[in-house]
Amino acid sequence: MLFDSHVSILLDTGAALVNATTPGHDGTEPVGAPTGRALQDAVREAISRDDYEATVSPATARALAQVGTDVRAVYAATDAGDLDRAAGLVNELLERTGARPRLTHTETGWDLHFHGPDQTVARGWAAGLAAGLALALGSDRGGRLGVCAADPCDRVFVDTSRNGGRRFCSTRCQNRVKAAAHRHRER
Ligand SMILES: [Zn+2]
Repeated sequence: MLFDSHVSILLDTGAALVNATTPGHDGTEPVGAPTGRALQDAVREAISRDDYEATVSPATARALAQVGTDVRAVYAATDAGDLDRAAGLVNELLERTGARPRLTHTETGWDLHFHGPDQTVARGWAAGLAAGLALALGSDRGGRLGVCAADPCDRVFVDTSRNGGRRFCSTRCQNRVKAAAHRHRER
């Protein structure tokens, strides 16, 4: 396994939060930054899982949307190969979120988790997401944080492929680029 399951959840959640809250392009579709009720729904969907349904107030949604913007900057830096900039941004995030490690007992034993100064949804997740990025960058896997290469798409992804060669956010974008390359060759 590339990342342990807790780190994987943090990284996947960070990518989902970026894609749900930051404006840009999803495939060829322009997307705006959601606001109000739509933002609350987008954030709740990004951080909830099968076994965890988050409660997201308007203030929590706005706070985590800001974190989404900060996390996107880290992806943009790693995707550009600028790990120094990415590390600086993550250190700032760790500082700001007050992320602290804590051993938590789960059904499989003791796991290293990361908490914020308190366990509110906004501060708990902000700290956890910052710590997940720090673990990825600190384990020489910063290059696994990617931005879709299928112009104009700018959705982000965590590359968990064996060879680390993933370039697209989705098979939809991959197929679009493949089809365009094929048409180009035909001409
Ligand atoms: Zn894409």
